Amino acid sequence: MKDQDCIFCRIAAGEIPSTAVYEDEEFRVILDLGPAAKGHALVLPKEHYKDITEVPEEVLGKAFFLAGRVGAAMKKALGCAGFNVVQNNGVEAGQTVFHFHIHIIPRYEGGPSMVTWKQGTADPEEQKKIAEQIRSAL
Ligand code: 5GP
Ligand code: ZN
Repeated sequence: MKDQDCIFCRIAAGEIPSTAVYEDEEFRVILDLGPAAKGHALVLPKEHYKDITEVPEEVLGKAFFLAGRVGAAMKKALGCAGFNVVQNNGVEAGQTVFHFHIHIIPRYEGGPSMVTWKQGTADPEEQKKIAEQIRSAL
């Protein structure tokens, strides 16, 4: 399904211009308009899925494989030391465009700083309960 009101559907279909680094029948990989670092790219499936929970297994596998390929190309071509693969689901998780996409963010020696979070602490008993809650919902 494609959604005419979805900006990433329209970008992936080539109806709205973007700077593409890769395209095939199922995906377009573009440079992010507000890059977190030089070369920040987005893997967009041409089909519309609102987030990762809607993406079929086969498409998801191809999308992440492609993210790895693009990251490897960034290391070769842009000289980044590494890259982050980031994927946001839901407003609270930072998703702003509700068409599934994968961020590939090159990381260079000397910055800008990488995607990070503050480490918390874990209580073993509580961890067991949490794991059980998640397991029972799978
Ligand atoms: P999210 O916050 O949903 O994970 O990521 C959305 C990303 O899409 C943001 O990094 C934002 O800069 C990028 N973006 C939003 N609109 C456009 C656009 O029209 N073209 C391109 N190339 N990137 C966009
Ligand atoms: Zn879409």
